[in-house]
Amino acid sequence: MQQSFNPYEMAVQQFELAADKLGLSEDMRELLRKPKRELTVNFPVRMDDGHIQMVTGYRVQHNVTRGPAKGGIRYTPEVTLDEVKALAMWMTWKCAVVGIPYGGAKGGVICDPKHMTSAELERLTRRFATEISIIIGPHSDIPAPDVNTNAQVMAWIMDTYSMDQGYSVPAVVTGKPLSIGGSEGRNDATATGVLFVTRSAAKRMEFLLQGARVSIQGFGNAGGVAARLFHNEGCKIVAVSDTSGGIYNEDGFDPAVLLRHKAEHGTLSSYSNAQHMSIHDVLEVPCDILIPAATEGVITEENADRIQARIVAEAANGPTTPEADVILFNKGCVVIPDILANAGGVTVSYFEWVQDLQSFFWDNEEITHRLEVIMNRAFDAVAEKADEYHCDMRLGANMLAIARVAESTQVRGIYP
Ligand code: NAD
Repeated sequence: MQQSFNPYEMAVQQFELAADKLGLSEDMRELLRKPKRELTVNFPVRMDDGHIQMVTGYRVQHNVTRGPAKGGIRYTPEVTLDEVKALAMWMTWKCAVVGIPYGGAKGGVICDPKHMTSAELERLTRRFATEISIIIGPHSDIPAPDVNTNAQVMAWIMDTYSMDQGYSVPAVVTGKPLSIGGSEGRNDATATGVLFVTRSAAKRMEFLLQGARVSIQGFGNAGGVAARLFHNEGCKIVAVSDTSGGIYNEDGFDPAVLLRHKAEHGTLSSYSNAQHMSIHDVLEVPCDILIPAATEGVITEENADRIQARIVAEAANGPTTPEADVILFNKGCVVIPDILANAGGVTVSYFEWVQDLQSFFWDNEEITHRLEVIMNRAFDAVAEKADEYHCDMRLGANMLAIARVAESTQVRGIYP
């Protein structure tokens, strides 16, 4: 990532491009640009050796005009308030682009889960949940997993919130284990959505996914599952990476073997039958489809020209800078933007929340069918917008989403 990279500045830059094209008034821009609430909390966590560590966390609600705020929580040593603000804004547009009744939020805690025990993580999570309980709730703001958080972390948040209320509140988080009100299909949802939109893009570009070469940066919930699903679709997974580095094999990997290797050894870079490369080199290998599934700001004006893929399907949030967008568009590479490509995760989170509120659960077939309908509809609407304005799909998606939020704001009016 570039030294000067600021995700919030990038999110605002993307917003302004769409606002210009929409001819949005300065008043409306000012209203939509700023996050509604930014909560920073500093709290103590007792570590296993008995010492107390002060930890900083954030929860930002960008906009709640169309419904409760929704967005994941990430645990990384590098997370900043500006990163969380950007991710919260992208969540607002993401929920609007797929037409689900949520606003956008995001959370982050500065910590390194790789160097913490499960007991330490649980204490950190329960205390953070308590600290942000003043703004989260099933009708106000519903967290979910993101980088380095998972179903177990969501279970601890759900339990902590429920203890405070005095009864179980499954709908306060999504991405929970099935046994406490989680949804069928949530684990695979983000990658399933990426597959659906990539199918649509490939169809429009008249090439077959069968045999297509795929490179994936990041091998967690989004990237690891995408490797499995694209492999099942008949694609060849030629490169993957995690924080330990990248591996490449032009004959393709079996994702099941890689997932097993990662589970046993903790890293991909120790896998033998492959050419080894840096984390970022996997972006530039010969491939048809590139899936960035790790972090922000990795496709920049520095490397965009060297990207060989025909489709970039953004499983990660914010992987491509606006300068790189221009370079990719000019060379005919189709970027399926994050707010569309990875919206399968929040869409099935929405299904989970609906099921929790009505205490009535759907089977996997129903979830997948409903997800496919929503993703295909959103893809077609974005592609149509991009065609109409002769622009890339990011601008098309942002225009569609921002217009929807602006309309809701207009019709609700300004209180008081
Ligand atoms: P995860 O923690 O499950 O996996 C992250 C993966 O990326 C890991 O393999 C890690 O080794 C790798 N990684 C982390 N930092 C990296 C770096 N600097 N360079 C290369 N690899 C790196 O996280 P996830 O849930 O899969 O999230 C990945 C991305 O997808 C994020 O941008 C997240 O916001 C986005 N996303 C996730 C979901 C979801 O449902 N989990 C939904 C929408 C979007």
